[in-house]
Amino acid sequence: MSKQPRAEPAASIDAPFRCGHVAIVGRPNVGKSTLLNALVGARISITSRKAQTTRHRVLGILTRPDAQFIFVDTPGFQTEHRSPLNERLNRAVRSSLAGVDVVVVVVEARHLGAADRAVLALIPGGTPAIAAVNKVDRLADRADVLPFLAELASVREFSAVVPISAEKGWQLDVLLAALAKLLPVGAAQHPADELTDRDERFLAAEYIREKIFRLLGAEVPYATTVGIDSFEHKAGLRRIHATIYVDKTSQRAMLLGERGERMKSIASGARRDMEQLFGGKVFLEVWVKVKSGWAGDERMLTQFGY
Ligand code: GDP
Repeated sequence: MSKQPRAEPAASIDAPFRCGHVAIVGRPNVGKSTLLNALVGARISITSRKAQTTRHRVLGILTRPDAQFIFVDTPGFQTEHRSPLNERLNRAVRSSLAGVDVVVVVVEARHLGAADRAVLALIPGGTPAIAAVNKVDRLADRADVLPFLAELASVREFSAVVPISAEKGWQLDVLLAALAKLLPVGAAQHPADELTDRDERFLAAEYIREKIFRLLGAEVPYATTVGIDSFEHKAGLRRIHATIYVDKTSQRAMLLGERGERMKSIASGARRDMEQLFGGKVFLEVWVKVKSGWAGDERMLTQFGY
């Protein structure tokens, strides 16, 4: 088993090149990000000047001699309670999955729980799916995975079921070979060295959100959303104005911290990340506003892009 995904040996010169969109889905903690990183690496290049060519946000691109895999993001799966927000998100998940060429469903070896089944139920029947059974490095005996593979196959039809370890890089070449077969024949849609074209405005909001998660307990971040009010890029300087919306006045106080110290850490941490990734100076101003019930408000959800 190889550590890194490598080109398949001796792809025939006549084999047609394939290119398509792949979504990696699964319940939280199954190893989706680890898998994406193992496949496309940690390198990130931003090409926000280029218009988005598909309706999916590209997370990473892997180009090999025989195929180009364009990994795209899907909105978060909501498997808990029903609410206008969750219903919208699930609708968005279905329509986004219907538009990709292949879905990779990541599950954890020997654990197929309610959350995994809920994710599987959201995959449209007409979209080819591959099951990547992750974390097999944790199994004492690899043969232990066999009954699990049979159980999986009884839940849904899969084009392939591949046991992998995203962390150890095991069997990723087998996974890629199975994926490549399901991509449509066609020329590469992106230059070979381009790894992602996530847009800077979106990333700016993500960095702020990430710092909120890091600096606060779980409760406040789930009640917040970040809006980018303006994003200006002139003479190497990016001027970004952002607003963090919270549900309650008490959450605003927690975000600000004593004498605004916590907010300062959030903003300066986010700014540092942005400068590093965007490769230039960033001026960042962040406001915190109380907007009760934003998650239940259809108009605000649309405004935030849900
Ligand atoms: P995500 O929420 O699905 O994106 O999951 P992550 O990629 O963040 O992984 C969740 C946890 O599982 C992390 O602690 C990873 O280090 C761990 N993990 C991911 N892949 C493997 C694997 O192949 N083997 C083991 N043992 N742990 C893994």
